[in-house]
Amino acid sequence: MIQESLKSVLSTITAPTRLIAVSKTKPVEDLWEAYNAGQRLFGENKALEMRDKHEVLPKDIEWHFIGHLQTNKIKYIIPYVALIHSIDSLNLLSAVEKEAAKHDRVVDCLLQFHIATEETKFGLDLAEAQQLLLSEEYKSMTHIRIVGVMGMATNTPDTDLIRKEFHTLHDYQQQLKKQYFQDKPEFKEISMGMSGDYQIAMEEGSTLVRVGSAIFGARNYNIPVNDK
Ligand SMILES: *Cc1c(COP(=O)(O)O)cnc(C)c1O
Repeated sequence: MIQESLKSVLSTITAPTRLIAVSKTKPVEDLWEAYNAGQRLFGENKALEMRDKHEVLPKDIEWHFIGHLQTNKIKYIIPYVALIHSIDSLNLLSAVEKEAAKHDRVVDCLLQFHIATEETKFGLDLAEAQQLLLSEEYKSMTHIRIVGVMGMATNTPDTDLIRKEFHTLHDYQQQLKKQYFQDKPEFKEISMGMSGDYQIAMEEGSTLVRVGSAIFGARNYNIPVNDK
């Protein structure tokens, strides 16, 4: 089942866009199924759940942290995380910097933007991101690397609105690139698009799509995960 869904999702994704299989709440057996079909990028949104899965799964998996990150949980992901998608404050970035220094790592991060009309979603606006990037504190960091932006569109059937929001995120990425990352070729990632809207996201320039339920099926939030 999972292998079939994965194949059908993959058949709609074209380079340079990469697929992150969002496996949050799903048991390790489900990740094995995707792994055995060749999938190597996985996305999780809880630090302890990701740590537990990392411990038992093959070490060539690229782990993407896509959820809201609490500073006291950073330590559970820093030794191995491939990309943190959810940097939404200077304070959080500083905490990642400190933990990454302890492990002598340079950790790749994305700035998360609030592009949806909904109030509930985390993220920066453009002015806040610019303020962060201009701060002396950010400029002194040597154990993090900002490689792009991330955002979530409004959960709505209005595809015009979704497209507009993704377009805005792409536009932010281009503006920031021009202003602060001219000489940084690594600043190229745009993480946008989920099961319901990743086709629109790709049309608007997404380089990383985060697809969960279209691969693994609907999530059952009644299953306890150990760091709620
Ligand atoms: C859960 C989640 C996804 C995947 O959502 P689906 O609709 O299941 O594809 C993508 N991005 C983030 C940040 C998520 O939390």
